[in-house]
Amino acid sequence: MSDDKDLGMDRSITRRDFLNGIAVTAGASILPPHIAAALQHELDPEQSADYYPPALTGLRGSHVGAFEVAHSLRDGDFWEKAGQPIETRETFDLIVVGGGISGLSAAYFFRKAHPNARILILDNHDDFGGHAKRNEFTVGDRKLIGYGGSFSIESPAPYSPVAKGLIDELGVDVASFPKHIARETYSSRGLVPNVFFDKETFGSDVLTVNPLPVGGTQNEGDDTPERQKIWDRFLSDAPLSEKAKQDLMGLRKGADYLPGLSSDEKKARLARISYATYLTDVAKVDPQIVKLYQNAPQALFGLGIDAVSAQDAWGFGFLGFRGLTLEPGPGKGMNRDVIPSEEAESYFYHFPDGNASIARSLVRRLAPDVLPGNSIDDLITTRANYSKLDTESSPVRIRLNSTAVRVRHVGDLRTAREVEITYSRFGKLYSVRAPQTVLACWNMVIPYICTELSGKQKEALQFEAKVPLLYTNVVLRNWTAFEKLGTMAVYAPNGYHTYFRLDMPVSIGEYHCSTKPDEPIVIHMLKTPCKPGLPARDQHRVGRIELFMTDFETIERKIREQLARTLGPGGFDPARDIAAITVNRWPHGYAYQYNSLWDKFWLEGGELPCETARKPFGRIVIANADAGAYAYVDGAIDQAWRAVGELSKVGS
Ligand SMILES: Cc1cc2nc3c(=O)[nH]c(=O)nc-3n(C[C@H](O)[C@H](O)[C@H](O)COP(=O)(O)OP(=O)(O)OC[C@H]3O[C@@H](n4cnc5c(N)ncnc54)[C@H](O)[C@@H]3O)c2cc1C
Repeated sequence: MSDDKDLGMDRSITRRDFLNGIAVTAGASILPPHIAAALQHELDPEQSADYYPPALTGLRGSHVGAFEVAHSLRDGDFWEKAGQPIETRETFDLIVVGGGISGLSAAYFFRKAHPNARILILDNHDDFGGHAKRNEFTVGDRKLIGYGGSFSIESPAPYSPVAKGLIDELGVDVASFPKHIARETYSSRGLVPNVFFDKETFGSDVLTVNPLPVGGTQNEGDDTPERQKIWDRFLSDAPLSEKAKQDLMGLRKGADYLPGLSSDEKKARLARISYATYLTDVAKVDPQIVKLYQNAPQALFGLGIDAVSAQDAWGFGFLGFRGLTLEPGPGKGMNRDVIPSEEAESYFYHFPDGNASIARSLVRRLAPDVLPGNSIDDLITTRANYSKLDTESSPVRIRLNSTAVRVRHVGDLRTAREVEITYSRFGKLYSVRAPQTVLACWNMVIPYICTELSGKQKEALQFEAKVPLLYTNVVLRNWTAFEKLGTMAVYAPNGYHTYFRLDMPVSIGEYHCSTKPDEPIVIHMLKTPCKPGLPARDQHRVGRIELFMTDFETIERKIREQLARTLGPGGFDPARDIAAITVNRWPHGYAYQYNSLWDKFWLEGGELPCETARKPFGRIVIANADAGAYAYVDGAIDQAWRAVGELSKVGS
């Protein structure tokens, strides 16, 4: 197709290393050649010198081969196809299911308490770290590092002493971050956040400045002349009706749309209506404004303003609340993401590979041969040796490509001394044992692998509906089009990816970020598929199906079209300028955080589903960020700490 040719769909970038699609079963046929070859010779693929997942491109995140076994368990047809497990006779002091930050932290805390402990960590992905995923690229002689998931050390609430303590012990000096970021890289060239109006929604394609950038909408009260200039340019360029522009300015100026109510009463009202309803029914603004902001909160909530409460929108800094004169301080039922905390805001650190560096530092502590070295500076460029992850001589072993399919006590629950874990690896089943187990995997998987649990606990575990996301990294040979257009980030209210931006310019150790427009760079693109109009958790379920049903080629075409359309006027040519694409697909992304619009208990009190869900069960304890319904690294660490603490009550 000639359009495809213009877009560069025929160009040989490194992609499609894996087969795409979902209608495949786990087995050698879906594996990349070096893994298939190793298996044919009955070798562990991880032992191959070619085994290096961070450098794989194409569809990553929850990659093909990682999820089929779990889906088959969910669908109830796994055991009829499965053979008998091979009894490895391997025993450990602890087995952890899930090699994300929570599982790795649990192993770390356990080893601290029991320095001679032997631990096995199982994970279904081909890489460790879970959501904390590293992507690497080579363009000419330049190496680029990107983040495929968890982006930075940051949290809406201050890190707990436990989480902060672990970050310190790993050698991350959070306060030193300003010395690693070249803050002026984009601003010194006049590059600012933009918004892209598309002609299907707004009548014409227009790229202009964004006075309310995603995640930076908190400038409602910014009346400085600089901000006014941005608003003036926006209003002059935006293809919005005069009525919509007037309403926008009215919202900005503010009015008391809820007269006669106290601040608390107003907050209570706002907690029960969506921001979209607030705009249309309370402030009664032009529907174009709803279209403009519909997808603005997606990066944080994975939802549009139809499913985010007006109170949360106020906390987030959206327009329209100034005239309500609400008392500062959180209202009842606010999402934890939007409750401001100065202490939390100052605790920020971004590695070029995001929080994969946290996962890598944990692995360095647990299995030093995998990532030799001793400073955070050398960690960033050290290549992990995957052949050392699961060696007999190492007290901590990390076994990848291994999905736990059954976790059960050996014998009667009350008297059992051991837990047996059966896992599936490249189509074969194996069983291993330990006196105790931490399930640091996604909580909604647990009912399928741990069938001994009570119905009540299973139901609570399945309440979790993780937020689906695409974190796409596109490597460009240069960023001259961004420079010409004066943009460093684009919010596209109706784009396939809602948001994209030039990489955060961070250099650490020997790794140097791109600082000149003629150098290659990673751009980061975000999509959170959802279905406006449905309740939040159903929106996530629909979005998850969309992600599993979309193949890489479709996503690649959408990326090329979107970038060409937005950046074409700056000279961007997708066929020429794109060097590589990695789409990190996370159908099971952020932990679900409670929301006053959809979760009554969040407003009214009572035991939270995550509290019921994470109760210890015999010799089995439960961690993961899900266990705190809090989608942050500190949540993952805190839950690991709690779970390991519960193990001490179980005994060994
Ligand atoms: C795209 C994205 C961006 C994010 N950005 C940030 C951020 O900037 N800052 C922040 O603090 N947090 C962020 N988060 C939240 C992130 O979830 C946490 O930071 C943290 O990485 C969660 O760690 P975890 O170990 O609890 O879960 P995970 O990282 O999900 O790890 C759990 C692991 O268990 C595995 N597993 C599941 N079932 C099984 C099974 N049956 N057998 C074996 N293994 C299994 C999973 O595949 C996964 O690898 C982000 C999340 C996503 C998805």
